[in-house]
Amino acid sequence: MREYKYLLVDADDTVFDFLACEAAAIKSVLARYGLPHDTKTVNAYSKINLKYWKAFERGEIKRESIFLGRFKEFLALINSDVEPMKINDDYFAELSNRAVLMPGALQTLSYLAKKYRVFITTNGVSATQIKRTNDSGVADLVEKIYISEDIGFQKPSAEYFDFVLKDIGQLDRSRYLIIGDSLTSDILGGINAGIDTLWVNVRGNPASDDIKPTFTVNSFTSLQKIL
Ligand SMILES: [Mg+2]
Repeated sequence: MREYKYLLVDADDTVFDFLACEAAAIKSVLARYGLPHDTKTVNAYSKINLKYWKAFERGEIKRESIFLGRFKEFLALINSDVEPMKINDDYFAELSNRAVLMPGALQTLSYLAKKYRVFITTNGVSATQIKRTNDSGVADLVEKIYISEDIGFQKPSAEYFDFVLKDIGQLDRSRYLIIGDSLTSDILGGINAGIDTLWVNVRGNPASDDIKPTFTVNSFTSLQKIL
């Protein structure tokens, strides 16, 4: 194993239980509008949302198109004429207040912070991620939070990591390890940037033939066995 010193840790579905945060936030907003908010409806939204973020990761759409597109499609599905961007804004406000952590996340971050320099690297929305990392205590355990919206590039682009490395002031890529749950943003990002990766496969997703992580664990806490 290389002598890592800098850990670039993803936020959603790595440190935060994003699906739990998302479900709670969307449920609450839909209820407020008097729209259906059962599990099936919430899952339908989640699936549509994921599709838009993946298209964004592949560089096929701009970030603003995620927000309009996902709610336009979802509201059409449930036959609602609510204004998509209005519900999107309410959803962001609600999501900012949800900071459900993965089990043992704070303990693991504090363990890592004693041995490494730890940074959060996330594709999330700036205002939302800043509030959630502050409220949850995550911000106290890491040195800095790099949010794609502020940087102008997103994972998995090499430019995103170029910015982060320059800002940290260490350009030796062998000293870095990228940690995250997503093959298409975190692990592919590492491959694009020439940085080793640790895949936190919390949801038991199938491995990929093309996008291969350096290490794999099945929970955020269990990476303490490696690092
Ligand atoms: Mg993630």
